[in-house]
Amino acid sequence: MNSNYRKALYWEQYSDGVKCKLCPHECIIKNGQSGICKSRINIDNILHTKAFGNICSASIDPIEKKPLFHFLPSTKTFSIAIEGCTFHCLNCQNFLISQTEPTEISKYNLTPTKVVEFALKNNCNSISFTYSEPVVFYEYMLETAILAKQSGIKTVMISNGYINNIPLLEISKYLDAANIDLKCFDEYIYKKLTGGKLNSILETIKTLKEKGVWLEITNLIIPQWTDNLSSIREMCKWLFKNNLSEVPLHFSRFYPTYKLIDIPHTNPETINSAIEIAKEEGLKYVYTGNIANENNEDTFCTFCNKLLVKRSGFSVIENYILSGKCKYCNNEVKGIWS
Ligand code: SF4
Repeated sequence: MNSNYRKALYWEQYSDGVKCKLCPHECIIKNGQSGICKSRINIDNILHTKAFGNICSASIDPIEKKPLFHFLPSTKTFSIAIEGCTFHCLNCQNFLISQTEPTEISKYNLTPTKVVEFALKNNCNSISFTYSEPVVFYEYMLETAILAKQSGIKTVMISNGYINNIPLLEISKYLDAANIDLKCFDEYIYKKLTGGKLNSILETIKTLKEKGVWLEITNLIIPQWTDNLSSIREMCKWLFKNNLSEVPLHFSRFYPTYKLIDIPHTNPETINSAIEIAKEEGLKYVYTGNIANENNEDTFCTFCNKLLVKRSGFSVIENYILSGKCKYCNNEVKGIWS
């Protein structure tokens, strides 16, 4: 057996195979076969993960790149990934690592202990599970997050949010922050674009918020797919209704890629309209991504309206938040600031 294989968590015996209970696909996997994510394999009717330590991508990033704008600004995060994904998004920017199985292109072998040691040695305040889909390397993420917590390093999950509630509750005990892709607000398009179900993502968002994991949301606006402004308004209404008005929302610009190479870039006017809609619906921190757009990268006080954090790309240029409050009027700014 491959040395990176480990017995998986969250599965049960099922007629002539096993049923994986990690994500809402709930794959039924026969002996010798793998699930939809290609990351979990049935060996002699015991479910194994193929993704434990065999990292395909590792780098030190500014935390703003995740994107996380209200979480330890100006700090470094040690970002790691193992191949695989529960989704098959037509627009995936990272399809070379998300649509392969974990044993195909791994570059490094790092135990959870080594990951934490590396982060400490390089003055990273956090470890980010990112680039591919961290849910498919759940066991590795969990063990690393537990060790990181013991060592005083924060952990971040950048995810499509496609995970069942029981494993989510367990990892939430150790995660400090998450950015969840909310790709659109239409079940039919969600299925067609990603292979997943919108409702499951909404449940993940609510659970992370309830469990106190710092949460930010990214919404990629793809022309002809996810640029319907009525649907964007419905999404914003839902966020407001579910007490998520202070969760930063990042509208991101689409660039032609993978199976949507013939779709044009998002028109900046559409992104501006989405921002207006989000503000009209009461969302307090709305940002843009993948686009140079002055002011829409900056944070303003929701009470006195003064500039609090000026950003340029992934850099923080000015920061007037003191102990989580506006320097000018003492209004609380939601986030984890130090
Ligand atoms: S984690 Fe993978 S194997 Fe398990 S249910 Fe989801 S797609 Fe299937």
